[in-house]
Amino acid sequence: MNIPLIDLRAQYVSLRQEIRSAIHNVLESGIYVSGPEVQLFEQETAEFANAKTSVSVANGTDALILALEACGVGPGDEVITSPYTFFATAEAIARVGALPVFADIDPDTYNLSPEQAEAKITSRTKAIIPVHIFGQPADMDAFLAIARRHRLYVIEDACQALGAEYHGKPVGGIGHVGCVSFFPTKNLGGYGDGGIVLTNDEDIARNVRVLANHGSTRRYFHETVGYNSRLDELQAAILRVKLSKLREWNRLRREKADYYSERLREMGIKVPYVTPSASHVFHIYTIEVSKREELSAYLNGGGVATGHYYPCPLHLQEAFASLGYKRGDLPVAEAASERTLALPMYPELTAEQQQYIVSRIRKFMD
Ligand SMILES: *Cc1c(COP(=O)(O)O)cnc(C)c1O
Repeated sequence: MNIPLIDLRAQYVSLRQEIRSAIHNVLESGIYVSGPEVQLFEQETAEFANAKTSVSVANGTDALILALEACGVGPGDEVITSPYTFFATAEAIARVGALPVFADIDPDTYNLSPEQAEAKITSRTKAIIPVHIFGQPADMDAFLAIARRHRLYVIEDACQALGAEYHGKPVGGIGHVGCVSFFPTKNLGGYGDGGIVLTNDEDIARNVRVLANHGSTRRYFHETVGYNSRLDELQAAILRVKLSKLREWNRLRREKADYYSERLREMGIKVPYVTPSASHVFHIYTIEVSKREELSAYLNGGGVATGHYYPCPLHLQEAFASLGYKRGDLPVAEAASERTLALPMYPELTAEQQQYIVSRIRKFMD
C-alpha cells in the first residue's frame, strides 16, 4: 500500500466532468478576471459562512494582509497571534509593518489561548488573530469579549477551517474579519492559489475591495496605493463546483477522524480533542506520541505518509529572530511541535487504507 497524506487527484477524478465543463465555460466566455464566476462565488461563500460580504483575493496570505490593512493595522501596532500555525499568519502581520506578538496555545485544542493572549495586550495592541488550527474553531466568544474590553479587532485565520462551526455559527463570519485560503490542499482547494476575506463590516469590506484592486474603484483613478490581488474566473468556476460538495467532504473527514480516534485512543495514543460546542473539520488529523520519529519512520517504511505540523513554532523561526524570543518562552507550543504527528486525512481515504494505517500503528505500539 502507498497512502499519501492527501490525495488531490482522487478528488479531481470524482469531479472530472463538472470541472471540465466549468473550465470550458469560462474559456468560451472570453472573461477571465473580475467576471460573473467571481461574483457568484463571492455571493455563495458569503452565504456559506453567514457573512454579509465576501471579497475574493489571490490567496490566503493576501487575505490576511488585506484584512489587517483594511482594519488600519500598520507600523507601530502590535498584533497578537498563535505561534503554532503556518508561517503566513505572522508573516502577514510583519508584512503590513506591525509587530507579531506570540502567546501560548491551549494544550488540548492547539488553538491560541485567550488568557495567554489577553496577558500580552499593551497600549499598542490593535488586533488579535486566532487561528482555527487544523480545522478546529478557536474560542471566539472569549476573543470577542477580550476585544470588546480592549477595543481590538478580531481577525479570524480560517484558512484551514471553512465549514467548521462554533456554537452553530460557521467560522470566518464570527469575528470582525475572516480570512480563508483555497490553496489546493485546503478543505476547499482550487487548482492554484485563491482566497477570500469575509466580513459583516461594510467599511472593512470596501477597504479590502479597493486595496485588492490597485486602490481603485473607478478604472484608471486611484484613491490609495493598493495591490493586485484577485481571484480569477477559472479558479472561481472550479471552486464553485467544489463549494457545493464541501459540507459532505467535511462530514467524511469527521467520519474518518472518528474511525482513527476510536481505535488509537485504546492504544494509549493522544488523539485530537474536539471542543463540545464546536464542529471540527479535520483539515489535518494529528496524534501525539512520545516516540514520534520512530513511529513516523515505521509508517513511512510501510508506505504510509506522515506529516509534522509544525516542526518549528513561529517564535523560534529564523525570520523572527529579531523579535527576541527563545526556547522555553512558549512551552505548550514548543511541546506540541515536538510531539504531534499527522496521519493521512482526506474525504476520499478508503476504509481499507484506514484499516491498514491503524494496523501498522498497532503493530508499532505492541
Ligand atoms: C494556508 C494557510 C495560510 C495561507 O494561505 P495561502 O493561500 O497559502 O496564502 C494562512 N494561514 C493558515 C493557518 C494556513 O493554513
